[in-house]
Amino acid sequence: MPDASGRLPVVFDRVAAFRVACDRVRRGGGTLGLVPTMGALHEGHLALVREAKRRASTVAVTIFVNPTQFGPNEDLARYPRDLAGDRAACARVGVDLLFAPSEEEMYPRDERTRVTVAHLTEALCGVSRPHHFTGVATVVTKLFAVAGPAIALFGRKDYQQLQVVRRMTRDLLLPVEIVGCPTVREADGLALSSRNSYLTSEERQRAVAIPRGLGRAARAFSSGERHAGRLVRMVEDQLSGARLRPDYVTIADADELSPFAGDATLPERAVLAVAAYAGSTRLIDNLVFSEDPPPRDD
Ligand code: AMP
Repeated sequence: MPDASGRLPVVFDRVAAFRVACDRVRRGGGTLGLVPTMGALHEGHLALVREAKRRASTVAVTIFVNPTQFGPNEDLARYPRDLAGDRAACARVGVDLLFAPSEEEMYPRDERTRVTVAHLTEALCGVSRPHHFTGVATVVTKLFAVAGPAIALFGRKDYQQLQVVRRMTRDLLLPVEIVGCPTVREADGLALSSRNSYLTSEERQRAVAIPRGLGRAARAFSSGERHAGRLVRMVEDQLSGARLRPDYVTIADADELSPFAGDATLPERAVLAVAAYAGSTRLIDNLVFSEDPPPRDD
């Protein structure tokens, strides 16, 4: 849905100037909708922008490939970067402000501070990415400190990140309202991700086993299955049938993210989360039973 003007948003690369622009929005009686991203924007990001436009008078997108949330052997160097393309995409959906700072701007020389959220970061992706969420919590705290009072929108695609950001914002008394938005999927169910661009066409076809497994488990849950291990196995069987290597398939408490044991009987609300490799590309997905619609299964 292109906006009326399609005007390119103003790009800020300095903290001080972006802060002034955000302050000006509020001083003029407006409200700020903030959409933090790492760029390579796709329809999932743009859905957050559209929701931000419904909820706030001015929308700011931030684009920053945050080095502290990548592990030493992860894809920081090859992460897709396309500021000109992202700016054009932002114009099409009516973004007002674009903040694209440098690494030096976000991490001043001799910086020593990290924000760590306990417990919520230990299970699921925290097992294989032990420093990831400290990087996320640190950079999001910095972005909130620059933007000031705002509504900030995050995707449920990164469910653990959403819970970590919610808790951090509450614990640190930050003046930001967190809004979680539904996962945007391709027609065959695969969740949109900037990392999908790494997939070969053959890997892309196999990757559909992730949403298919989630869908099977969700339908079984709807039909009354409450045995955690059996629901996990439905996803694992899909992954192995497609030769996707699981990092984890876990059912956890939807708020605290504490995993359920295999023989647990599940409550009405729980999150089923998956990370799996298609070739060397790590993909994540999830759904909350009784809350998220199952991805389509064709
Ligand atoms: P990223 O650029 O991957 O760090 O993502 C920036 C924001 O977009 C995060 O809040 C993500 O959860 C959200 N996001 C990424 N992919 C999707 C998707 N397929 N559907 C909804 N939100 C998404």
